[in-house]
Amino acid sequence: MFLSDIEIAHSNPMTHIKNIAHKLYLDDKDLEMYGNYKAKLPLELIDEDKIENSNLILVTAITPTPAGEGKTTVSIGLSEGMNFIGKQSTVVLREPSLGPVFGIKGGAAGGGCSQVVPMEDINLHFTGDFNAIEKANNLLSALIDNNLQSKTKNLNIDPRTIVWKRVIDMNDRALRNIIIGLGGTANGIPREEGFNITPASEVMAILCMAKDFDDLKERLGNIFIGYTYDKKPIFARDLKAQDAMAILLKDAIKPNLVQTLEKNPAIIHGGPFANIAQGTNSIIATKMAMSLSDYVITEAGFGADLGAEKFLNIKAAYAELNPKAVVLVATIRALKHHGGVAKEDYNTPNLEAVKKGFCNLEKHIENIKKFNLTPVVAINSFVSDTMEEQEFIIQKCKSLQIEAIVSKSWQMGGEGNIELAKTVADIVDENQEEYTPLYQWSDPIENKVSTIAREIYGAIGVDYSPQAKQKLKKIKELGFENFAVCMAKTQTSFSDNPKLIGRPEGFNITVRDIEIAAGAQFIIPILGSMMRMPGLPETPASEGMHIDEYGTIGGLS
Ligand code: ADP
Ligand code: MG
Repeated sequence: MFLSDIEIAHSNPMTHIKNIAHKLYLDDKDLEMYGNYKAKLPLELIDEDKIENSNLILVTAITPTPAGEGKTTVSIGLSEGMNFIGKQSTVVLREPSLGPVFGIKGGAAGGGCSQVVPMEDINLHFTGDFNAIEKANNLLSALIDNNLQSKTKNLNIDPRTIVWKRVIDMNDRALRNIIIGLGGTANGIPREEGFNITPASEVMAILCMAKDFDDLKERLGNIFIGYTYDKKPIFARDLKAQDAMAILLKDAIKPNLVQTLEKNPAIIHGGPFANIAQGTNSIIATKMAMSLSDYVITEAGFGADLGAEKFLNIKAAYAELNPKAVVLVATIRALKHHGGVAKEDYNTPNLEAVKKGFCNLEKHIENIKKFNLTPVVAINSFVSDTMEEQEFIIQKCKSLQIEAIVSKSWQMGGEGNIELAKTVADIVDENQEEYTPLYQWSDPIENKVSTIAREIYGAIGVDYSPQAKQKLKKIKELGFENFAVCMAKTQTSFSDNPKLIGRPEGFNITVRDIEIAAGAQFIIPILGSMMRMPGLPETPASEGMHIDEYGTIGGLS
């Protein structure tokens, strides 16, 4: 019988956050304390010289099954492993959203013996960053609707063109499409509106792309809202919104320091969606960790075709970070899935299916190499794995000159990752090269999309719907051609068809629509339909949660 994540977390007394700060050579006065176990780190601690000498390691994964393949768990466990072998290391992660916590997936603070704590705080309101982001987003919404109502300052915005939506951090499908402003002349102009979940807010993407507070303000001002009746674009700065929005984010912009179960530092900050946004923690948090430690382990959401591609072409390129190694998390169950096995049979030994599904891992390995980086494969070990299944992956990777190492992060924490930590440290220490993004932001949009589609997805071509073609024209008119391309694609396939498992070949992708996140500086080609406001399942995780009279929480995972 295994203990649940929260039981493991509770059985491990935490140390005061000051003791964690000392491991980063910080003084108590450097911290902005949020109780005894959480602290915010002021931006003055970011030090470009130290960043230059720090080593960034990206953790990504093969094409995942819906349960997740353990990137967060392995990221935390690898940082524990690095510290275990005497390398000063910090893990940097995203903040969880309440939607999945109460929905299907559960929290995002790692699992088993590789967790960040206090896990209930991290999974719930934490230090209030998501609330601040929600408020900043919704302030802009209120300003827009106020302007529609205004007699003297009316910007003549056509309500039918407004793309800015309100957000709330909850899975609540009933808010996807609503009408606001009902009730007569005193109560606003009626219009169609909808809510997205907070991680899908452009404010979240902006906070995570901003290099500093000035950059944040400028980006907030650049948010595109819609058009006037005479087709003039309207931005947040036209409503003088940027400073007020930035005021609401004055603390949310500061990264949060917490600890791992083995009392090593963890920085947790920002949580943009991995489908329509960049899916990784803030640039500021990554730079903070690099300013304070020799090795920094970070995670990018979903499989490497989305997470690593965006990390390397968008975040690292913009922030001028130079990742030295990539850890590619693979599980036997996901390889079986790509070998055609049904969910019910993931835990049944099946070497043939693992062999058949290996093509998915192989394509991800090839992709990482295109960025001039050598991946290490971490086989996230599950109790149902057999030795021969794991050995097959190790040998097959060896034939590709790639190291594959069994990771026991979940079972053992840092001690379960000694070999992985040593291998990663060796790769990092030997790597004197610069990684290379696959495209330049200044390339034409169609070329950027085509490069990602062909090189990363393995597509033979890209089709554009008439609507997407029209948007392309508009984007060029607006002068946004030199933005990064942030692909919105299913995470369950290399292609844009969620059902195509393994390594699909001979397919085209279809860009159905294109969105603009002018503040984040993203052009977002939409392939298929993208969920920005999930619903709750038939049996939400919330039903299994409880709290006693002492405030002790159970049932969070
Ligand atoms: P990702 O970051 O890739 O989405 P997570 O690390 O959050 O994945 O893990 C997803 C879920 O799987 C978590 O509930 C975690 O506790 C569980 N998990 C991860 N690795 C293992 C493992 N080796 N054995 C059992 N459960 C695991
Ligand atoms: Mg994760």
